[in-house]
Amino acid sequence: MNTQPRLIEVRQNVLKQNDLLARELRVRFQAAGVYVVSLVSSPGTGKTALLEKMLTIFREEWRVAALVGDLATDNDAARLARSQVPVKQITTGTVCHLEATMVERALEGWNLEELDLLFIENVGNLVCPSSYNLGEDLRIVLLSVTEGEDKPLKYPTIFNTADVAVITKIDLAGAVEFDEHAAHANIQAVRPGMEIFQVSAKTGEGMDELKQFFRMRNAECGVRI
Ligand code: MG
Ligand code: ZN
Repeated sequence: MNTQPRLIEVRQNVLKQNDLLARELRVRFQAAGVYVVSLVSSPGTGKTALLEKMLTIFREEWRVAALVGDLATDNDAARLARSQVPVKQITTGTVCHLEATMVERALEGWNLEELDLLFIENVGNLVCPSSYNLGEDLRIVLLSVTEGEDKPLKYPTIFNTADVAVITKIDLAGAVEFDEHAAHANIQAVRPGMEIFQVSAKTGEGMDELKQFFRMRNAECGVRI
């Protein structure tokens, strides 16, 4: 017997439930005036390092906080706590992506009115996070110079559902012979016109441009960040 249609039906239902909740979250975020940014990438691209840097720099200008998703450990939350902003871990167990319901639960006890900018670090995974809307205003996909310029071609969906690409660990570009031209061309091939930033969380290179981008977003959206 072929059980395929039933499985597809269940999956579509889960996605639909997620979308409904994500829409509710989005309404809540907008009402509270908090701009929400999610980070997606494969494991090891430096999401947490970039996030720590952003939290540390951005807290001078905005009221920032972060939710950080991981399969098992709360190491990332402990690390991010050094930035001295509110941070909460979402441990997903066996689930390899964040869902809107996990975000909703993690936000319990937080007053969103007291925030300007909320970051959500997804579980390191380039596949299913693309299907789960978390109510975010902006999705950033990270690509590190150490992982190969063809990642966008291999995982076009995640690049397609993201709004901005950030190339990380740019301080290592020379050592790994990173082909910047190819990386940009591949990103543009799957998502024409996508804005691309190049940063190093280690040296701080590119962080000013990223901060300036958030300032401009603020002006465009009329969101209070
Ligand atoms: Mg992490
Ligand atoms: Zn998953």
